[in-house]
Amino acid sequence: MHYLITGGAGFIGSHLSEALLQKGHQVTAVDDLSTGQLANVDHLTADPNFQIVIENITNAVVMDRLVSECDIVIHLAAAVGVELIVQKPVHTIETNVMGTEVVLRTARRYRKKTLIASTSEIYGKSANIPYKEDDDRLMGATSRHRWAYATSKALDEFLALAYHKEYDLPVVIFRLFNTVGPRQRGRYGMVIPRFVKQAMQNKQITVYGDGQQSRCFCDGRDVIKAIIGLAENSQAEGEVYNIGAQQEITILELAHKIKQMTNSTSDIVLVPYEEAYEAGFEDMRRRVPDTTKINALLGWEPNLTLDQTIMDIVKHFENEGKQETISERDTPSAVIVG
Ligand code: UDP
Repeated sequence: MHYLITGGAGFIGSHLSEALLQKGHQVTAVDDLSTGQLANVDHLTADPNFQIVIENITNAVVMDRLVSECDIVIHLAAAVGVELIVQKPVHTIETNVMGTEVVLRTARRYRKKTLIASTSEIYGKSANIPYKEDDDRLMGATSRHRWAYATSKALDEFLALAYHKEYDLPVVIFRLFNTVGPRQRGRYGMVIPRFVKQAMQNKQITVYGDGQQSRCFCDGRDVIKAIIGLAENSQAEGEVYNIGAQQEITILELAHKIKQMTNSTSDIVLVPYEEAYEAGFEDMRRRVPDTTKINALLGWEPNLTLDQTIMDIVKHFENEGKQETISERDTPSAVIVG
């Protein structure tokens, strides 16, 4: 099979490309390198079954050619990272809505099965834990930019399901819950690479809010097995699936764990949300997926532990040898807690 992966030079896209090549498939990755990096796919470029196209997915002419040449599309390209989303709201909405529109319109033209990456942000502030695919969603006000991301991805989902209903296009939607692993960058938010970098540099580990908010982190290498399973299974078409782990950890516990695992002398500090992001920023207290649906279809469940993932991220940064600059912020009202 020939896979087209939008966002193919990103953290998840590059692991997915690698896994598909290993399975003997042909892969074309398209990426504008806005948050993806050529370094993520450098090791794949010698493979004759791999090609990377540096282009924005809103370029309908290029997308027409790429979609026409492939058998299946996995659409990962999006504006992601809470920090990026808060700082660049127009870019977020335009990339996520217009990009998906181009992908779906082109996929319909050539009748190509299309998988659309969505997000656990879709569930918003709902306290109805764990989240099931058909649950109600609870969004904040439009004046809070964070919700633009969830809403843009919700529109992507509506559009994909509409193409399925109206034009019988084979689409599958998967919602990712805090996916982590080597190659993920902390520059635009993502807590684990940030904490690991901060700990390795013995800088302050910046826990936002009171640190009692919790998340379930799932290793990207487990996640791509689920994505490939959905791509290969025709029963998944027209459906939405959660992909994530169920083991919860508070962000403060996470900071302590990373500090300990890296033998760091960093202070752990609490930074108010309004300072970390913007005034009135709303965070989710908990976010846990119900993965019964994907487990029933594919027998999928994550295997890698959080400790294993953190160790691999540490090794990745050590190998990289160069330190990425995490956007430095003043933390005058930070409280040292560990
Ligand atoms: N977070 C933090 N310090 C950081 C970056 C993030 O405490 O330097 C918190 C963030 O406020 C959220 C959690 O870590 O509660 C997970 O953040 P991330 O951006 O990784 O993903 P989210 O779950 O918000 O999509």
